[in-house]
Amino acid sequence: RHSKAIGAPEIPSVRWQDVGGLQQVKKDILDTIQLPLERPELLSAGLRRSGLLLYGPPGTGKTLLAKAVATECSMTFLSVKGPELINMYVGQSEENIREDSDIPDDPTLPFFRPVSPEVFRKARVAAPCIIFFDELDSLAPNRGRSGDSGGVMDRVVSQLLAELDGLHSSGDVFVIGATNRPDLLDQSLLRPGRFDRLVYVGIGEDRESQLQILRAIVRKFKVEPGVSLSEIVDRCPLHLTGADLYALCSDAMTSAVKRKILLISEGLDSEDSELTLCAEDFSYALDI
Ligand code: ATP
Repeated sequence: RHSKAIGAPEIPSVRWQDVGGLQQVKKDILDTIQLPLERPELLSAGLRRSGLLLYGPPGTGKTLLAKAVATECSMTFLSVKGPELINMYVGQSEENIREDSDIPDDPTLPFFRPVSPEVFRKARVAAPCIIFFDELDSLAPNRGRSGDSGGVMDRVVSQLLAELDGLHSSGDVFVIGATNRPDLLDQSLLRPGRFDRLVYVGIGEDRESQLQILRAIVRKFKVEPGVSLSEIVDRCPLHLTGADLYALCSDAMTSAVKRKILLISEGLDSEDSELTLCAEDFSYALDI
């Protein structure tokens, strides 16, 4: 009842088989999260609890992986983007100023008190929970310096560090961070017990990884039997990300819809027939 009142996060519905390729990455993630979750007694025996940092180019499946591990471990999932986090702390500090009359009302002095943002409170209530910090680099100390009067960013980072350190006592809240630019991160975020388990999520280097990703993606689409996914992959430019392959399938879907509309107008198909992707749809998608 209580969780519902605060808008409880839910267990996502992304399964491991929805994430194509990335075998080693999946294993690393499971080892980091599943083991301490299922065997908490190992923590007192010396197993280290780590926060994960998934880094790599955009569209390679970092968000998808974080959701999948939550689903597979039956954990709720809370996502917060770096910029939102900044607003949360800043917004909250402003609220404090308003509510607390003994705080000097000087807009040039940003005031922060160690309050736990909503996201951490929600996570504790909905535990076991994964908090996913997307775009973690937006908390980078060098970003937004020009508009950063009074070191707002430094304060946001130090508040976040305090929260991360405090998570050790609430054993079943885990953090996963994601970034395209790990080089920009404040080094203090990477210290032991914080985002200390770095996992690279890269672009499939070869046709086989691309094929595995495409196979995972087409599970969501109806593809006509006889369509050769490996032929499609062979015709793709090298180094397509999962997001690119998803876009390819969406384009194929557009072609399938157009084809169907045409057939319906000619009286050769009906509204309620299933929409399936054929080889021609993929050719259309590959050509645009
Ligand atoms: P960003 O850094 O831009 O946030 P990201 O690495 O978090 O990117 P995702 O949001 O996980 O990327 O991926 C975008 C979409 O691309 C996913 O929703 C999914 O449809 C598809 N996708 C990416 N990688 C994979 C993969 N390995 N297997 C299946 N689908 C994938």
